[in-house]
Amino acid sequence: SLIEYHLTTSPHPAILDFRLPQKPHKGFSLNPPVPLHPPTAMPHILILEDEAEIAEIIALTLTRDHHTSQIAPTAQIAGQHLAREAYDLLLLDVGLPDINGFDYLKILRAQHPRLPVIMLTAQDEETDRILGLELGADDYIGKPFSPRELNARIKALLRRTQRQPENEWN
Ligand code: CA
Repeated sequence: SLIEYHLTTSPHPAILDFRLPQKPHKGFSLNPPVPLHPPTAMPHILILEDEAEIAEIIALTLTRDHHTSQIAPTAQIAGQHLAREAYDLLLLDVGLPDINGFDYLKILRAQHPRLPVIMLTAQDEETDRILGLELGADDYIGKPFSPRELNARIKALLRRTQRQPENEWN
């Protein structure tokens, strides 16, 4: 047999393993790695909000509603997440420490034209809402908001934007 052949021909039995046909190790695969967020997974949402308590409440609300989420306290950190992972939706606070949310939306739209965006506006002021929509936000929600309203708006927006290229893993 093959093993006997090696045993009789190899002067160094210790290296025999390298010469025998090997079964692939469990978990070994020539296929590309599984994407972090395949399109069939739960909706994945980026929360760009600098107030930790609010961000945590939003994340908890999303988890309860079977969404996964990532919190970014600054626009810079959000940019890093967006470069690494595919998101189905962005919750964008207007009052951020490193940039105004409206200005960030302009930059974001150049790089991610189809990423669904809901703006979190501190005041329920008409000018803010209109500006956000004009700059390409898909929806807005005025603080304070109820978890139920947030979930309803996220679900409605995801329904409208499902199966568009931005949501597909490339
Ligand atoms: Ca804020």
